[in-house]
Amino acid sequence: MPELPEVETVARQLDPELAGQRIERLEVLDERWSRPGDPTGLSATVSGRTIEGLGRRGKYLLLALEGAQTLVMHLRMTGNLVLVEGEEALDPSEGRRLYEGERSTSERHLRARFTLEDGRELWFTDPRRFGEAFLIDDPKLGERFAKLGVEPLSADFTAEGLGESAAGRTAPLKSFLLDQSRVAGVGNIYADEALYRARLHPLSPAGSMKPEHLDALRDAIVAALEAGLDAGGSSIDDYRDGRGEKGAMQDEFLVHTREGEPCPSCGEPIVRIVVVGRSTYYCPSCQVRLRRRPRRRST
Ligand SMILES: [Zn+2]
Repeated sequence: MPELPEVETVARQLDPELAGQRIERLEVLDERWSRPGDPTGLSATVSGRTIEGLGRRGKYLLLALEGAQTLVMHLRMTGNLVLVEGEEALDPSEGRRLYEGERSTSERHLRARFTLEDGRELWFTDPRRFGEAFLIDDPKLGERFAKLGVEPLSADFTAEGLGESAAGRTAPLKSFLLDQSRVAGVGNIYADEALYRARLHPLSPAGSMKPEHLDALRDAIVAALEAGLDAGGSSIDDYRDGRGEKGAMQDEFLVHTREGEPCPSCGEPIVRIVVVGRSTYYCPSCQVRLRRRPRRRST
Protein backbone atom coordinates (compact mmCIF):
# COMPACT_ATOMS: atom_id res chain seq x y z
CA MET A 1 0.00 0.00 0.00
CA PRO A 2 1.56 3.30 -1.07
CA GLU A 3 2.62 5.61 1.76
CA LEU A 4 4.25 9.03 1.80
CA PRO A 5 7.54 8.04 0.06
CA GLU A 6 5.71 6.17 -2.71
CA VAL A 7 3.19 8.97 -3.35
CA GLU A 8 5.89 11.64 -3.12
CA THR A 9 8.06 9.71 -5.60
CA VAL A 10 5.22 9.73 -8.13
CA ALA A 11 4.55 13.44 -7.57
CA ARG A 12 8.23 14.40 -7.93
CA GLN A 13 8.64 12.35 -11.11
CA LEU A 14 5.47 13.45 -12.84
CA ASP A 15 5.18 17.10 -11.78
CA PRO A 16 7.78 18.35 -14.31
CA GLU A 17 6.30 16.12 -17.03
CA LEU A 18 2.72 17.23 -16.47
CA ALA A 19 3.01 20.94 -15.60
CA GLY A 20 1.78 23.05 -18.51
CA GLN A 21 0.25 20.09 -20.35
CA ARG A 22 -3.33 20.37 -21.53
CA ILE A 23 -5.58 17.40 -20.82
CA GLU A 24 -7.24 16.64 -24.16
CA ARG A 25 -9.54 14.09 -22.58
CA LEU A 26 -10.20 12.31 -19.31
CA GLU A 27 -11.94 8.96 -19.58
CA VAL A 28 -13.32 7.48 -16.39
CA LEU A 29 -13.46 3.76 -17.19
CA ASP A 30 -14.67 2.63 -13.77
CA GLU A 31 -17.39 4.68 -12.12
CA ARG A 32 -16.25 3.47 -8.72
CA TRP A 33 -13.12 5.63 -9.17
CA SER A 34 -15.07 8.89 -8.98
CA ARG A 35 -17.89 7.71 -6.74
CA PRO A 36 -20.03 9.38 -5.42
CA GLY A 37 -19.20 11.95 -8.12
CA ASP A 38 -20.67 11.52 -11.58
CA PRO A 39 -17.97 10.12 -13.93
CA THR A 40 -19.40 11.80 -17.04
CA GLY A 41 -19.55 15.18 -15.32
CA LEU A 42 -16.02 14.77 -13.96
CA SER A 43 -14.60 13.86 -17.32
CA ALA A 44 -16.39 16.81 -19.00
CA THR A 45 -15.08 19.23 -16.35
CA VAL A 46 -11.46 18.02 -16.49
CA SER A 47 -11.15 17.53 -20.26
CA GLY A 48 -9.62 20.57 -21.95
CA ARG A 49 -8.02 21.93 -18.77
CA THR A 50 -4.33 22.66 -18.39
CA ILE A 51 -2.36 21.01 -15.57
CA GLU A 52 -0.48 23.39 -13.28
CA GLY A 53 1.36 20.68 -11.38
CA LEU A 54 1.21 17.48 -9.34
CA GLY A 55 1.70 17.69 -5.58
CA ARG A 56 0.99 15.68 -2.46
CA ARG A 57 -0.68 16.03 0.94
CA GLY A 58 -0.50 12.98 3.24
CA LYS A 59 -1.08 10.02 0.92
CA TYR A 60 -3.16 12.11 -1.52
CA LEU A 61 -1.96 13.16 -4.97
CA LEU A 62 -3.06 16.67 -5.94
CA LEU A 63 -3.37 17.39 -9.66
CA ALA A 64 -3.68 21.18 -9.78
CA LEU A 65 -5.71 22.44 -12.74
CA GLU A 66 -6.00 25.93 -14.20
CA GLY A 67 -9.12 27.64 -12.94
CA ALA A 68 -8.36 27.07 -9.23
CA GLN A 69 -9.53 23.47 -9.02
CA THR A 70 -7.64 20.35 -7.99
CA LEU A 71 -8.26 16.74 -8.87
CA VAL A 72 -7.46 14.86 -5.66
CA MET A 73 -6.49 11.21 -6.12
CA HIS A 74 -5.84 8.49 -3.54
CA LEU A 75 -4.07 5.29 -4.57
CA ARG A 76 -5.43 3.32 -1.58
CA MET A 77 -4.19 -0.30 -1.67
CA THR A 78 -3.12 -1.09 -5.21
CA GLY A 79 -3.54 2.11 -7.25
CA ASN A 80 -0.80 3.44 -9.52
CA LEU A 81 -0.50 6.66 -11.50
CA VAL A 82 1.79 6.07 -14.46
CA LEU A 83 2.74 8.19 -17.47
CA VAL A 84 2.81 6.11 -20.65
CA GLU A 85 3.35 6.81 -24.30
CA GLY A 86 0.11 7.02 -26.25
CA GLU A 87 -1.17 4.41 -28.71
CA GLU A 88 0.52 6.18 -31.63
CA ALA A 89 3.92 5.89 -29.98
CA LEU A 90 3.74 2.14 -29.41
CA ASP A 91 5.91 1.42 -32.45
CA PRO A 92 9.26 0.38 -30.85
CA SER A 93 11.11 2.44 -33.46
CA GLU A 94 9.77 5.50 -31.65
CA GLY A 95 12.37 4.71 -29.02
CA ARG A 96 11.80 6.50 -25.73
CA ARG A 97 8.94 5.02 -23.79
CA LEU A 98 8.44 5.81 -20.13
CA TYR A 99 6.60 2.62 -19.42
CA GLU A 100 8.07 -0.57 -20.82
CA GLY A 101 6.46 -3.95 -20.32
CA GLU A 102 3.46 -4.92 -18.25
CA ARG A 103 1.34 -2.70 -20.48
CA SER A 104 -1.27 -5.37 -21.13
CA THR A 105 -1.54 -6.24 -17.43
CA SER A 106 -1.96 -2.58 -16.58
CA GLU A 107 -4.51 -2.10 -19.34
CA ARG A 108 -6.71 -4.72 -17.66
CA HIS A 109 -6.68 -2.70 -14.47
CA LEU A 110 -7.09 0.71 -16.08
CA ARG A 111 -9.63 2.82 -14.15
CA ALA A 112 -9.07 6.26 -15.66
CA ARG A 113 -7.03 7.57 -18.58
CA PHE A 114 -5.91 11.13 -19.25
CA THR A 115 -4.83 11.85 -22.83
CA LEU A 116 -2.37 14.75 -22.86
CA GLU A 117 -1.83 17.25 -25.65
CA ASP A 118 1.62 15.81 -26.45
CA GLY A 119 0.05 12.38 -27.10
CA ARG A 120 1.19 10.76 -23.88
CA GLU A 121 -1.31 9.24 -21.48
CA LEU A 122 -1.58 9.29 -17.72
CA TRP A 123 -3.03 6.03 -16.45
CA PHE A 124 -4.65 5.36 -13.12
CA THR A 125 -4.51 1.57 -12.80
CA ASP A 126 -5.87 -0.31 -9.80
CA PRO A 127 -6.47 -4.09 -9.55
CA ARG A 128 -8.30 -3.91 -6.20
CA ARG A 129 -10.32 -0.81 -7.21
CA PHE A 130 -10.19 1.01 -3.87
CA GLY A 131 -8.46 4.04 -5.41
CA GLU A 132 -10.51 7.17 -5.80
CA ALA A 133 -10.62 10.68 -7.19
CA PHE A 134 -12.63 13.84 -6.67
CA LEU A 135 -12.51 17.42 -7.89
CA ILE A 136 -12.39 20.26 -5.39
CA ASP A 137 -12.25 24.06 -5.57
CA ASP A 138 -8.84 25.23 -4.36
CA PRO A 139 -10.20 27.50 -1.60
CA LYS A 140 -11.84 24.41 -0.05
CA LEU A 141 -8.63 22.33 0.04
CA GLY A 142 -7.61 23.62 3.47
CA GLU A 143 -10.93 22.68 4.99
CA ARG A 144 -10.96 19.27 3.24
CA PHE A 145 -7.57 18.39 4.73
CA ALA A 146 -8.05 20.15 8.08
CA LYS A 147 -8.16 16.84 9.95
CA LEU A 148 -5.01 15.53 8.33
CA GLY A 149 -1.99 15.58 10.66
CA VAL A 150 1.33 17.36 10.27
CA GLU A 151 3.50 16.74 7.18
CA PRO A 152 6.49 14.85 8.62
CA LEU A 153 8.97 16.18 6.05
CA SER A 154 8.02 19.80 6.78
CA ALA A 155 9.55 22.18 9.32
CA ASP A 156 6.25 22.01 11.24
CA PHE A 157 7.06 18.47 12.37
CA THR A 158 8.70 18.83 15.78
CA ALA A 159 9.24 16.65 18.83
CA GLU A 160 7.16 19.15 20.84
CA GLY A 161 4.25 18.89 18.43
CA LEU A 162 4.49 15.11 18.45
CA GLY A 163 4.40 15.23 22.26
CA GLU A 164 1.25 17.36 22.29
CA SER A 165 -0.38 15.00 19.83
CA ALA A 166 0.53 11.94 21.92
CA ALA A 167 -0.21 13.40 25.36
CA GLY A 168 -2.63 11.30 27.37
CA ARG A 169 -3.01 8.69 24.61
CA THR A 170 -3.04 5.09 25.75
CA ALA A 171 -3.18 3.70 22.18
CA PRO A 172 -0.09 1.70 21.17
CA LEU A 173 2.58 3.66 19.31
CA LYS A 174 1.99 1.58 16.19
CA SER A 175 -1.65 2.59 15.91
CA PHE A 176 -0.83 6.18 16.90
CA LEU A 177 1.53 6.38 13.91
CA LEU A 178 -1.04 4.87 11.54
CA ASP A 179 -3.58 7.54 12.52
CA GLN A 180 -3.49 10.03 9.63
CA SER A 181 -4.79 12.81 11.87
CA ARG A 182 -1.52 12.67 13.89
CA VAL A 183 1.29 12.37 11.33
CA ALA A 184 0.14 12.40 7.70
CA GLY A 185 1.43 9.85 5.22
CA VAL A 186 2.97 7.26 7.57
CA GLY A 187 1.53 3.77 7.04
CA ASN A 188 2.32 0.20 8.06
CA ILE A 189 5.78 -0.02 6.50
CA TYR A 190 7.30 3.25 7.66
CA ALA A 191 5.68 3.03 11.13
CA ASP A 192 7.59 -0.24 11.75
CA GLU A 193 10.80 1.16 10.33
CA ALA A 194 10.53 4.38 12.35
CA LEU A 195 9.79 2.59 15.64
CA TYR A 196 12.78 0.33 15.10
CA ARG A 197 15.05 3.28 14.37
CA ALA A 198 13.74 5.03 17.51
CA ARG A 199 14.20 1.81 19.54
CA LEU A 200 10.60 1.99 20.73
CA HIS A 201 8.33 -1.04 21.13
CA PRO A 202 5.22 -0.80 18.93
CA LEU A 203 2.92 -1.63 21.87
CA SER A 204 4.21 1.20 24.09
CA PRO A 205 1.37 3.57 24.97
CA ALA A 206 1.79 6.72 22.84
CA GLY A 207 1.33 9.00 25.87
CA SER A 208 4.19 7.33 27.74
CA MET A 209 6.96 8.91 25.65
CA LYS A 210 9.40 11.16 27.47
CA PRO A 211 11.15 14.08 25.72
CA GLU A 212 14.10 11.89 24.69
CA HIS A 213 11.71 9.37 23.12
CA LEU A 214 9.87 12.12 21.26
CA ASP A 215 13.15 13.45 19.86
CA ALA A 216 14.17 9.95 18.81
CA LEU A 217 10.81 9.16 17.23
CA ARG A 218 10.63 12.44 15.32
CA ASP A 219 14.10 11.90 13.87
CA ALA A 220 13.36 8.22 13.16
CA ILE A 221 10.16 9.01 11.24
CA VAL A 222 12.02 11.51 9.06
CA ALA A 223 14.94 9.10 8.51
CA ALA A 224 12.64 6.18 7.62
CA LEU A 225 10.64 8.27 5.14
CA GLU A 226 13.79 9.73 3.57
CA ALA A 227 15.27 6.24 3.15
CA GLY A 228 12.04 5.28 1.36
CA LEU A 229 12.24 8.33 -0.88
CA ASP A 230 15.91 7.67 -1.70
CA ALA A 231 15.01 4.13 -2.76
CA GLY A 232 12.12 5.28 -4.93
CA GLY A 233 9.54 3.74 -2.58
CA SER A 234 8.69 0.15 -1.66
CA SER A 235 7.22 -2.38 -4.08
CA ILE A 236 6.10 -5.24 -1.85
CA ASP A 237 3.13 -5.87 -4.11
CA ASP A 238 1.60 -3.62 -6.73
CA TYR A 239 3.34 -0.29 -6.28
CA ARG A 240 5.02 1.19 -9.34
CA ASP A 241 6.40 4.71 -9.63
CA GLY A 242 5.27 7.35 -12.13
CA ARG A 243 7.34 5.64 -14.84
CA GLY A 244 6.01 2.16 -14.13
CA GLU A 245 9.19 1.04 -12.36
CA LYS A 246 9.43 -0.82 -9.05
CA GLY A 247 10.87 0.89 -5.98
CA ALA A 248 13.82 -0.68 -4.14
CA MET A 249 13.00 0.05 -0.49
CA GLN A 250 11.66 -3.48 0.13
CA ASP A 251 15.29 -4.69 -0.15
CA GLU A 252 16.38 -2.22 2.52
CA PHE A 253 13.77 -2.77 5.22
CA LEU A 254 15.36 -3.00 8.66
CA VAL A 255 12.50 -4.95 10.26
CA HIS A 256 9.33 -4.74 8.15
CA THR A 257 8.51 -8.18 6.62
CA ARG A 258 11.74 -9.55 8.20
CA GLU A 259 10.15 -12.04 10.64
CA GLY A 260 12.75 -14.53 11.89
CA GLU A 261 15.67 -12.71 10.27
CA PRO A 262 18.42 -11.31 12.51
CA CYS A 263 18.04 -7.76 13.82
CA PRO A 264 20.58 -5.61 11.94
CA SER A 265 21.79 -4.25 15.27
CA CYS A 266 21.79 -7.12 17.82
CA GLY A 267 21.15 -10.27 15.79
CA GLU A 268 18.02 -11.34 17.70
CA PRO A 269 15.30 -12.69 15.40
CA ILE A 270 12.75 -10.08 14.31
CA VAL A 271 9.28 -10.80 15.70
CA ARG A 272 5.92 -10.33 13.99
CA ILE A 273 2.79 -9.45 15.93
CA VAL A 274 -0.58 -8.06 14.86
CA VAL A 275 -1.52 -4.58 16.08
CA VAL A 276 -4.88 -3.08 15.10
CA GLY A 277 -5.16 -5.76 12.44
CA ARG A 278 -1.82 -4.89 10.82
CA SER A 279 1.31 -7.05 10.69
CA THR A 280 3.90 -5.38 12.86
CA TYR A 281 7.61 -6.24 12.95
CA TYR A 282 10.09 -5.32 15.67
CA CYS A 283 13.19 -6.42 17.54
CA PRO A 284 12.24 -7.66 21.03
CA SER A 285 15.70 -6.90 22.32
CA CYS A 286 16.38 -3.42 20.88
CA GLN A 287 12.93 -1.87 21.12
CA VAL A 288 11.97 -0.76 24.62
CA ARG A 289 8.42 -1.22 25.84
CA LEU A 290 7.52 1.92 27.77
CA ARG A 291 5.23 1.71 30.75
CA ARG A 292 2.04 3.66 30.94
CA ARG A 293 2.58 6.85 32.87
CA PRO A 294 0.16 7.64 35.66
CA ARG A 295 -2.30 10.31 34.59
CA ARG A 296 -1.63 13.66 36.21
CA ARG A 297 -4.48 14.87 38.37
CA SER A 298 -5.71 18.36 37.49
CA THR A 299 -7.13 19.91 40.63
ZN1 LIG B 1 17.87 -5.88 17.93
